Amino acid sequence: MPRLPGGRGMSLIAAEHLCVRFGGEEVLHDISLRVDPGEIVTIIGPNGSGKSTLLRALLGILPPAEGRVARAPGLRIGYVPQRLHIDRSMPMTALRFLSLPAHQPRNRALAALARCGVAEAAHRQMTDLSGGQLQRVLLARALLTDPALLILDEPTQGLDQPGEAAFYRLIEEVRRDTGAAVLMVSHDLHVVMSASDRVICLNGHICCEGTPRVVSNAPEYRALFGLGTQGALALYQHAHDHDHTHDHAHAHGPDLWHDRAKGHDHA
Ligand code: ADP
Ligand code: MG
Repeated sequence: MPRLPGGRGMSLIAAEHLCVRFGGEEVLHDISLRVDPGEIVTIIGPNGSGKSTLLRALLGILPPAEGRVARAPGLRIGYVPQRLHIDRSMPMTALRFLSLPAHQPRNRALAALARCGVAEAAHRQMTDLSGGQLQRVLLARALLTDPALLILDEPTQGLDQPGEAAFYRLIEEVRRDTGAAVLMVSHDLHVVMSASDRVICLNGHICCEGTPRVVSNAPEYRALFGLGTQGALALYQHAHDHDHTHDHAHAHGPDLWHDRAKGHDHA
């Protein structure tokens, strides 16, 4: 297991100088990162910046062109992919879904659904669930293996901000109760889970990295985040030290988002 600079000991998973190519195109360039036990790490980045590809490389689904990924021996990972293809012609309850592909004792599956706040979904059809319920069912399935690391690809996509905040609070509870580390891709470039220990901004390479800024109770933030988010959301302030001439990420949004870091060209 590599110990990367700044590591606090044995990491759960570590990438060193990872490059991934599709055909001739390099989608990920020289990525080094690690996730330590119990950490919450959020990855952000524009569409197509390689976030899902990075997760798949870390999972070992995609072979890297260069570099390597090391996982702690026996590491159990719970993975929620960005897209789930539900066959609408095939009826399937949430409880049944949790028993695919590996059979689960009914009690265990029901307990996982209850843990994720969707006990009522057990006997409902997957196709009938709301976006928030579906994400919780997916999380419940990912928890069935007692993972030490949860890898979640845009788990709050399609949820409104109170829904997102509620999901983040659930993740925090899961970390507290199980000690699992969380590596999560956020669909938002600026608003992240406030409990994130680290935020990594990706755009083919690691652009910048830091901690989220927990926002105050000021009315402008409340207006931005909506009511009922109970501090689950925070802002991430980018501090790139290089230009992105093709980066549209900052092309919209309120003044609040403007970077003050030197060397920026995100007009
Ligand atoms: P993100 O998750 O950040 O939106 P992805 O990791 O899905 O980005 O994709 C990054 C880039 O890699 C995109 O240009 C995408 O088209 C390309 N890509 C992803 N998967 C494949 C694949 N299996 N074959 C070829 N190109 C791919
Ligand atoms: Mg993606």
